[in-house]
Amino acid sequence: PEKHVIMDETAIRRALTRIAHEILEKNKGVDDTIMIGIRTRGIYLANRIAERIRDIEGVPMPVGELDITSYRDDRVRIQSAGSASALRAPDIQDKRVILCDDVLYTGRTVRAAMDALIDLGRPKMIQLAVLVDRGHRELPIRPDYVGKNVPTSKLEQIEVRMNEVDRNDEVVIIQQ
Ligand code: 5GP
Ligand code: MG
Repeated sequence: PEKHVIMDETAIRRALTRIAHEILEKNKGVDDTIMIGIRTRGIYLANRIAERIRDIEGVPMPVGELDITSYRDDRVRIQSAGSASALRAPDIQDKRVILCDDVLYTGRTVRAAMDALIDLGRPKMIQLAVLVDRGHRELPIRPDYVGKNVPTSKLEQIEVRMNEVDRNDEVVIIQQ
């Protein structure tokens, strides 16, 4: 298979910094806002964006985690990620939730995430941030914040590498 690097460490860093600014601008700050990352790499992305928002604004930015695999088994799990910023299920009531994932494809994972959140409380609003939008939506879902739009064929795969779990920060497109 052929591999092409479409985002390097610098490109990822700049995209996440831009998204942090976009979140602040669109919402006029981050009062009553929680970032929630979807399972593995969405959680690292949520943490990175939250860290930038804290740096820029000097305010706390809570981060939580959502495990959609569990949701599909009917076992929703929302956990706190990070020490000073525990998220508990009732806390999403009337909050602005910014869902965060690495790759957006059909939209089914985000739909399941929204179902899980709405089951746990009534958020005031849900927004979506993704590092890569690779297209091929099967549901009427669109991201509010996008690191990079990458038109793909269904045969292609996006590999998202993050130094929290991988050796480096990189987004690669793999052509079969
Ligand atoms: P969807 O539910 O929108 O079809 O797929 C999105 C979910 O599957 C995300 O959680 C994402 O991590 C994963 N995913 C879908 N396509 C890709 C891809 O090409 N590369 C990676 N790394 N993850 C993908
Ligand atoms: Mg995923």
